[in-house]
Amino acid sequence: MYDPILLAKQTEALVIRGRARRYYRLARGGRWYGGIATADCCGCPLRCGFCWSGKPRDHPDKVGKFYQPEEVFKALSSCARRNGYRQMRLSGNEPTLGKEHLLSLLRLVDESSYHFILETSGILIDEQYARQLAGFRNLHVRVSLKGTNPREFSLLTGAPAEIFSRQLGALRNLIEAGVSSHPAVMLSFSPKDNFQSLKDELKKISPHLLEEIEEEYLITYPHVEERLIKTGLKPLIAYGPDGIPRELI
Ligand code: SF4
Repeated sequence: MYDPILLAKQTEALVIRGRARRYYRLARGGRWYGGIATADCCGCPLRCGFCWSGKPRDHPDKVGKFYQPEEVFKALSSCARRNGYRQMRLSGNEPTLGKEHLLSLLRLVDESSYHFILETSGILIDEQYARQLAGFRNLHVRVSLKGTNPREFSLLTGAPAEIFSRQLGALRNLIEAGVSSHPAVMLSFSPKDNFQSLKDELKKISPHLLEEIEEEYLITYPHVEERLIKTGLKPLIAYGPDGIPRELI
């Protein structure tokens, strides 16, 4: 078992240099959210057993290059312009590592007419981080819960079960700070009853979270299958790359 907070610090030392962050792809188009420009960053403080990110997660200092926020925004906006998108995001790993880089990028997005979707596990979003995110009008945060309870979280991520409370805490902090946000839940490994118990927990934070909850299921890309074999995780529900239901895109 590892300490995700310590791993976050160690990973930041590898992927953050001043205001610059390391990325392995800059930038690509994608069909998610109805079309979105995406830049893929390196480094994550979690080790999910179903993760689709390979070397950029496990050896983040061995791939890609450092980019300033201005360079990332330029690449994202040119990709968005080319494809007629109104939205942009960071993906591939954990975008909330390197707060100064992210906040600088969000400042640039806020000066534009683009909308930014911040996809995160939320484990680094404390009250202060949430208040800083509240300053951006073009931002929506999607907190991706790894399972429905502490035990599932630990099984899926290999991290201590108590870290799950940081995921729920992020949703609470974001709501209290007035940041537009919603929960997504990886449900591929969860019995139905556990999902209902999670809904009860989310309702205690805010009844609105139940209306906006997004179900997330595993897509079995070949490298994801390889990771599942290594970690021994067996999904109850998963979809092949060519069979993703329309409502999940
Ligand atoms: S949080 Fe995302 S990027 Fe990080 S290990 Fe989990 S699935 Fe991979």
